[in-house]
Amino acid sequence: MKTALPPLSVLGAKGSEIYLEDGRTLIDGIASWWTACHGYGHPALISAVQKQAETLSHIMFAGLTHTPAETLAAKLCTMTGMARAFFVDSGSVAVEVALKMALQFWRNHGQPQRTKFVCFEHGYHGDTLGAMSVSDPEQNFHLAFKGMLAENHCVPLPRNTQQMQAFEAFIAHHQSSFAGLIIEPLVQGAGGMKFHTPDTLRSIADICKKYDILLIADEIATGFGRTGSMFACEQAGIAPDIMCVGKALTGGMMTLAATLASSRIFDGFWSDDASHALMHGPTYMANPLACAVANASIDLFATEPRLEQVQNIAAQMFEELAKCKDLQGVVDVRVMGAIGVVQLEKGRMNRHALRQQFVGKGLWIRPLEDVIYLTPAFTIAPNQLSSLCSGIYDELRQR
Ligand SMILES: *Cc1c(COP(=O)(O)O)cnc(C)c1O
Repeated sequence: MKTALPPLSVLGAKGSEIYLEDGRTLIDGIASWWTACHGYGHPALISAVQKQAETLSHIMFAGLTHTPAETLAAKLCTMTGMARAFFVDSGSVAVEVALKMALQFWRNHGQPQRTKFVCFEHGYHGDTLGAMSVSDPEQNFHLAFKGMLAENHCVPLPRNTQQMQAFEAFIAHHQSSFAGLIIEPLVQGAGGMKFHTPDTLRSIADICKKYDILLIADEIATGFGRTGSMFACEQAGIAPDIMCVGKALTGGMMTLAATLASSRIFDGFWSDDASHALMHGPTYMANPLACAVANASIDLFATEPRLEQVQNIAAQMFEELAKCKDLQGVVDVRVMGAIGVVQLEKGRMNRHALRQQFVGKGLWIRPLEDVIYLTPAFTIAPNQLSSLCSGIYDELRQR
C-alpha cells in the first residue's frame, strides 16, 4: 500500500533475532504475531518438518487419515478438555468453522431461528466475512466492509457487577435468536491488547450456560502459554462449547489452526441423517507437515520450561515497562504473561515514525493504533527483552 512503510527484506531468523538482507540484525518483540513462541529455527521443529516431509508431506483428509493428525487431535483434546478436533488452515477459517458449527448445531436440534452471535467491542476474530461479522465493526481492519456483513450483536465487554447485570438482561431478552457468543478469553488481541479478569470471563461463561448460548472461546492469540497458563480458559476454570486455536499451534513454523468441540457439540452432528454432518472441508485440511510440527511444538512445552519462561518474562516486563507510566502521553502500562502493553493517548503517536525509530535502534516493534506491545518468543534472553523495554522507554521519553 502506498501509505505503508516499504517492507524490510529478511534473509533469516534465529531465536529472537531477525537478519535483514542489508546486514542489520533486529531483536524481535512480536514473534511474528505471537506465533513463534519457541523462537525462530528451533532444531526440534526443523527436524519434525524434515522427517515428516520424507514420509508424507500431504494427503487429502477425506476417506483417509494419518498418525500426525490423530496424535495432534488427541494431544489438543487432552490439553484443553475438549472432545474433538477439526483441522483448518488458518485462524480466520477456524472461526468460520466455529460459527458454522454453532449454527448447524441448532439447526440439527430443530432451532434454526438461532442465527445471531454475541461478540464484544474491541474483539478481533479474523479477516474473512464471517469472522469480520463477529469482530468490532469500528476497527480500522474492517471499516471498509461495514454494512456488507451478517448482522450480529457487538456489545461492550461487561467489567463490573452493574454492567454484568445489564449484559445478562440483554442476553435474556434475545436468548431465542442467539446461536452463540464468541470471546477472546482474558486478552482481546489485535483489537487493542485489552485485558479482562478471570472472574469476568467466568461470569460471562455462566450467563452463556444459564441461557444455553454456545460459548466459543477464540484462543488463537491466547493459547499455548501466552497469558501464563497453557490456555486462558484454564485461569477462569471454564469449559467452552467450542474453542479455536491457531497462531502458536505450530510454534510459528507453518499455517495450521483447529476448531475444537465439546462432546455435546459433536453429538449434535452424529446422526443417521447425512444432512446433519458438518459441512466444511478445506483442501489442505490436517496437512501432515503442519500436524507433525504442531506435535513437536506441543512436546517442547513439556521438555523445555516454557511456562516458567513466561512467568520470568512477565516479571521482567512488569518491572522494566512500569517506568513508562510516568511519561507524558502514556495512559496505561499492563502485563499479562508474555504480553506487555504501553498504551498511549489517542492520536498521539505516528506509528510509522515510531516503527522506523525502533528499527533504527535494532528493534522489531510494530505498534497497533494507540498501543505499543511486546509479545516476544518465550525463549527470549533477559538482555534482549531489556533492549526492547528500554527501547520503548527511551523512544517515548524523547517525544
Ligand atoms: C490472529 C487471530 C485470528 C485470525 O487468525 P489468522 O490465522 O490470521 O486467520 C482470529 N482470532 C484471533 C483472536 C486472532 O488473534
